Amino acid sequence: MKYNIEKINGIAERVAEVVKAAIEAEGQEQVLIGDVEMALRESLHQIGQQALACFLEAGEEGREREISCGCGGSLSYQRRRKATIWSVFGKVVYRRAYYAGCSCGEGYAPVDERYGIEPGKVTSGLAHLIALSGIQQAFEEGGKWLKEFLLFEISENTVRAETQKMGKLQRQAEEQLVKATQEESSLQKRERHQIAVPDILYGSIDAAKVRIEPRKEQEKAAKNRENWRDLKVGCWYEGEIVPPNQRSIRQKDKAEREGTVIRARNKTYFCDIAKAEEFGKLLWASGCALGADRARLLVFVCDGALWIWNLIAHYFPNAIQIVDWYHAADRLKRIAEEAFPNLTARQAWLEGATEDLWQGQVEAVIEACRALSGKSNLANQSLSYFGDNIERMRYAQFRSAGYLIGSGVIESGCKQIVSQRLKLPGAQWELDGAVLTAKARAAWLSNNWPSLVAARSLLPLAA
Ligand SMILES: [Zn+2]
Repeated sequence: MKYNIEKINGIAERVAEVVKAAIEAEGQEQVLIGDVEMALRESLHQIGQQALACFLEAGEEGREREISCGCGGSLSYQRRRKATIWSVFGKVVYRRAYYAGCSCGEGYAPVDERYGIEPGKVTSGLAHLIALSGIQQAFEEGGKWLKEFLLFEISENTVRAETQKMGKLQRQAEEQLVKATQEESSLQKRERHQIAVPDILYGSIDAAKVRIEPRKEQEKAAKNRENWRDLKVGCWYEGEIVPPNQRSIRQKDKAEREGTVIRARNKTYFCDIAKAEEFGKLLWASGCALGADRARLLVFVCDGALWIWNLIAHYFPNAIQIVDWYHAADRLKRIAEEAFPNLTARQAWLEGATEDLWQGQVEAVIEACRALSGKSNLANQSLSYFGDNIERMRYAQFRSAGYLIGSGVIESGCKQIVSQRLKLPGAQWELDGAVLTAKARAAWLSNNWPSLVAARSLLPLAA
């Protein structure tokens, strides 16, 4: 946006004068830069309020006496009527032309429609910031935190409402995608507008428990009041080799062991509290949006609960399936701890089994576990774990093909959505609130936030 710099400088000089006079009037012996900054912020805040009101009131002259109403009737000019909105500068009061008198009983203010303003509500610019605080911290905390930035209070309820409104927009967008990808015609239409498809696309799915408050009286009366539900989380991403000069300390260690280090980029998270079947539709829809059905190679790295592999096999039968290396290796560690009290013997068994697994010789790992089945229950249970996943653990093959073999992306996603938000101290969730907050946070983690902000600025018009 281009401004008239001379005019802006003129205004700045005058603001500086006003602030200087105010500070001098206080008669403080020593003036700190922080005091000056604060005085300037408060002044700019008031200027913003006034300017926004002026902006909304401009062009309100020369109005028509009669205009047509949405119902087909006609509205006549009443007067300039006062309205209030909450903006990033705080409460703004403005007067705008108001029409009424139609038989349908509706009133109408052209300025409100033109700018998508809902009197009494927050502007989309403020809504964006409020929701941003709500996806990062408890709603109550968010209100306090925002006050430091905005210089005015936002209630806990407003933070909750605006955050969940973003979640609703995300859900709407997902529902549209699901609908579109269930119809053959729109899939075909998409074929003609080819989007850029990654060569190798990765997918991961996992779930984490969220505590939902009981709602019905009989639920509250029940002995076991806690109601834990699975938030299913999925992620689409691409892999890229980390250049040597960009490796973290952990990645340097890894590079020494493994040769290369691959990291995930362009992550897109999606989540829901829903049955596997419903979640599958979202998996398919979000995947199609990124070209998962047309990528040369599709690779799923998961911690392999059965419902997850079933969904993948149903929607993407040609995808390569990999059990997360760290989960598989960690299981060997737990078996060794259970089976060997003696440290040296434990270490010897673990090193051998881990090396076999690393080389993708899963049959040898199974034999090593079978040999311990008298000493360890976990070794016994693991016969089927490794047996069912033989082809998903050919790690040597996967590594030489250059695939990621760890599902760190999805674990980090679950952690960021569930542990770092839904499970914060004091959090209490109803089902819908938990889902909407999780969806808003997933959109932020996916860099999908700007499209929600854009959708939010159209919201009053769409309603
Ligand atoms: Zn009407």
